Amino acid sequence: MNDCIIVGGGIAGLQAAIQLGRYSAYNVLVIDNGKGRSTLCRNYHNILGWPDGISGEKLRSLGKKQAESVGVQFAHDTVKRAEAHNRSFVLTGESGKPYSTKTLLLATGLTDRFPNIPGLVSTLGRTIYVCPDCDGYEIENRKTLVLGAGNSGADMALLLRDRTDDITYINHEKTAVDHGRIEQLNDKGIGYVEKEIVEVECQGDGMIRGVKLEDGEALPAERGFISFGGNQVHSELAAQLGAELEHNRHVKADPRSKMTSVKNVWVAGDLGVHSQLTTVAMGDGATAAIWIHKALSRMRF
Ligand SMILES: Cc1cc2nc3c(=O)[nH]c(=O)nc-3n(C[C@H](O)[C@H](O)[C@H](O)COP(=O)(O)OP(=O)(O)OC[C@H]3O[C@@H](n4cnc5c(N)ncnc54)[C@H](O)[C@@H]3O)c2cc1C
Repeated sequence: MNDCIIVGGGIAGLQAAIQLGRYSAYNVLVIDNGKGRSTLCRNYHNILGWPDGISGEKLRSLGKKQAESVGVQFAHDTVKRAEAHNRSFVLTGESGKPYSTKTLLLATGLTDRFPNIPGLVSTLGRTIYVCPDCDGYEIENRKTLVLGAGNSGADMALLLRDRTDDITYINHEKTAVDHGRIEQLNDKGIGYVEKEIVEVECQGDGMIRGVKLEDGEALPAERGFISFGGNQVHSELAAQLGAELEHNRHVKADPRSKMTSVKNVWVAGDLGVHSQLTTVAMGDGATAAIWIHKALSRMRF
């Protein structure tokens, strides 16, 4: 029986693992399937100590090494089921393997929805971004394209207008945009194009040069954002355990301890209800770990 299982070895899960490992008192297992948003971002620009940025992959590999150095174990698996059993939890992996634990931290994050446009993935976090709070700074006074769908893309373009006056929204999926939003785009001088993007053209590693559209037209750009809507929040395990969810499927938690509505089940990172930032995920992970430690100490004495 593990003292704590952390499902999700991204930013939140790794920070929690490091914090828990440093109590030198618990069997901690991180179960991760090696995907997640942090594997996609080629450069985080807004993290203390990394003024030139650091990639998600690099941060994850450093975090895993640091967690392992304080005794945390790792398993590569996808957890498919979570059940409560007599004051403990049993998880079942895709591999069929059962895992049992006294406490559980869910840090499974979410998956951004975006179409498979050639050239796009290599630019993510480098010159095409997802989060205006993280990377609005990067597009200041630069020729910017929003690659998106429907109202979601329109809202992103409107939000970014404060950062640059050279912005065009490409509604790649040609889904309906409310009349009011189209008017706002016009009023704010934001270009609107309703055509499929067939390629993100790059110069050098992940540096967008522009996009090529279905009719052969090429639109130049220095920077981009994506906003297709329909991101998938990975709250399936929380739901199986009966944890309370928000209407948008993020998992509710006590703001102080990060414990969900199910005793001894915590949540951290993008799965929770807050701004979706790396630094917030780290803070959540550390906070949850401290409260998991308090709970485990009480179980001992
Ligand atoms: C392109 C891009 C750019 C970004 N840029 C920035 C930025 O500049 N600054 C910033 O602060 N934030 C940025 N973010 C957001 C940031 O990456 C997230 O806030 C952060 O990764 C959240 O950490 P997390 O641990 O909650 O989730 P993740 O890092 O996504 O980790 C979740 C982990 O759980 C695993 N998992 C999920 N379900 C299961 C399961 N059932 N079983 C086992 N494992 C599972 C996943 O594979 C993954 O490894 C960006 C995101 C993207 C996509």
